[in-house]
Amino acid sequence: MKCIYIDKDEVLAFLNSEDCHIEGQSYEWEGENVVHIHTAALPHAFGRVVAAHWHKSSLPSEPYAPEHYYVVILSDNEAKAYYVNEELQLEECEVNFIPSREEMYSRAKGILEVDILSNKRVMIIGLGSFGSQIAIELAKAGVGEFALFDFDRVELHNLARHTCTIKDLGRLKTDAIKDAVIGKNKLAKVDLFPINITDQKALMDEQVAKADLIICATDNNASRFYLTQCLLKYNKVALFGRAVTRAEGGDVFRHRPGGPCYNCLVGSRAHAMATEEITNRSQLPAYVSEEDANAMIQVGLSSDIEPICNLIVKLALVELSRGKNSGIESLETELTYDYYMWANRRERRHAVWAPFNEAKNKPTILKWYGARIAKDDNCPSCSANALLDLGEDLNTDSLTPNYEGIVLETGE
Ligand SMILES: [Zn+2]
Repeated sequence: MKCIYIDKDEVLAFLNSEDCHIEGQSYEWEGENVVHIHTAALPHAFGRVVAAHWHKSSLPSEPYAPEHYYVVILSDNEAKAYYVNEELQLEECEVNFIPSREEMYSRAKGILEVDILSNKRVMIIGLGSFGSQIAIELAKAGVGEFALFDFDRVELHNLARHTCTIKDLGRLKTDAIKDAVIGKNKLAKVDLFPINITDQKALMDEQVAKADLIICATDNNASRFYLTQCLLKYNKVALFGRAVTRAEGGDVFRHRPGGPCYNCLVGSRAHAMATEEITNRSQLPAYVSEEDANAMIQVGLSSDIEPICNLIVKLALVELSRGKNSGIESLETELTYDYYMWANRRERRHAVWAPFNEAKNKPTILKWYGARIAKDDNCPSCSANALLDLGEDLNTDSLTPNYEGIVLETGE
């Protein structure tokens, strides 16, 4: 027997409409006996497309066409579905429901109250291996509104670390991730911005002002510095996450109003450029050797990215539910650092860290370390005498990198 899925919200909308018959669309997976029937075509569905007819109360007296299709018959207390085969015989199908809005809300109640998150708007800049995964995790947690920024398309070399699949090749990442978000939370409102944020500053300002939380997962510093300006202007909270070369490790920085900014952390644009993950050879700084360039291009495994995404998601949930009575309240008093560091392997920047099995209280791999970052009195972005104008070149001569001064708190 074929197994049919229909959407309760679509069923209710049809029952409440004036129409007695509508033409919809069904998507069947051949050989699997599974069919999804909708009242309208979906923008990006997979499976074989077959006509579907929705009726109230009874079957039509005449068949539609001499080819196979599905019929859904709805009454106030019953839903039946039939497959009309090539011989125009009716085969009854098993009907299953995709839950309605109310049911999804009641099912999701648990560790996080869904109503805390359902009206929160999260802006995600960059939908690479970080941003794409974070968007989907937040959709699963019940975040209701997204603004997704990325001007790239899904390419073959992205796939190994990206949530998108081979079916998404060539698509804009914004469109592909919207589908993935809706697939997890069909009620989510998703606005798409396939643009470079530094090209459309007025729009960027407007979107930062509207967001409850901004997540910056880009692989270039121009966007991070530009975003910092907007955050300072609108007093917003943001999370900056990234992997360093070959994903040997990574870090997460939290920007909160009144605290240190991204510019306080990295000190200078030049320093940050030398340590950030660079996946595109054309962006390599001129002073990087061929050996380093090759290392930079091998960007690491998805499993090296996952732990960093996971901390960003947890911090995001803490920020979105801050001050509310929720199941993750305890994290609010524990995740109090501005900066978190993670190492996957003892390489380069982490080469001096202790081996995992002999670390005792020294920093080692596969553990999170928090650090308090001092607010820089001479910060060109957030200090009283900040001079940085948007898009202007920064004079880095007087600035020193802050990484060396970071003291890791091991908690032991
Ligand atoms: Zn600053």
